[in-house]
Amino acid sequence: MAVHPLCVEPHPVLRTPARPVDQFSDDLRRLARDLIDTMYANDGIGLAAPQIGRDVQVFVANPTQQRGREVLLVNPVLEAVTGRAGVVEGCLSLPEIWERVKRAARVRLSGWDLDGKPVEVEADGLLAIVLQHEFDHLHGRLFIDRLSWFRRQRVTRRVRARAASRRAAVPPSQASGAKGRDASLAASRVR
Ligand SMILES: [Zn+2]
Repeated sequence: MAVHPLCVEPHPVLRTPARPVDQFSDDLRRLARDLIDTMYANDGIGLAAPQIGRDVQVFVANPTQQRGREVLLVNPVLEAVTGRAGVVEGCLSLPEIWERVKRAARVRLSGWDLDGKPVEVEADGLLAIVLQHEFDHLHGRLFIDRLSWFRRQRVTRRVRARAASRRAAVPPSQASGAKGRDASLAASRVR
């Protein structure tokens, strides 16, 4: 088991589009295990590789938080989105920030599993939200990017203030660790 420190905004890896995986290797399997361990250690329901400092296209999602029921996708492609949902989201890379985000209610993604076999995932409810949230991470996007300009300015000020106080309070070697919870908690479907 390997639990990694989390990268927290404004870490540059969070704003870098992740590279596609080109080898279904033991390293990829290790990364997947580490993502799952780190997600559970932080009470998360989703985690993407950039959040532990790896700029590759892999994420895990599991709103049930039951081990063994993780959805893991390598090189995912968002094939279809339908409906609308409005959900309060948080993110392990944005500690203590909670905002309502507009998302699609249902999604279909294609991608690959750890053995290089093609997989397709269709989801609604909370899983659909988490999949969209984690997919965004692989493209350098955070959920605050989806807020209105005004709300985003307000949140950005709080993120900067927290980053400044962390730098002041924490030795640099521990500065990337943070507690939070990825993706959404309270799913209240708009329609
Ligand atoms: Zn996140």
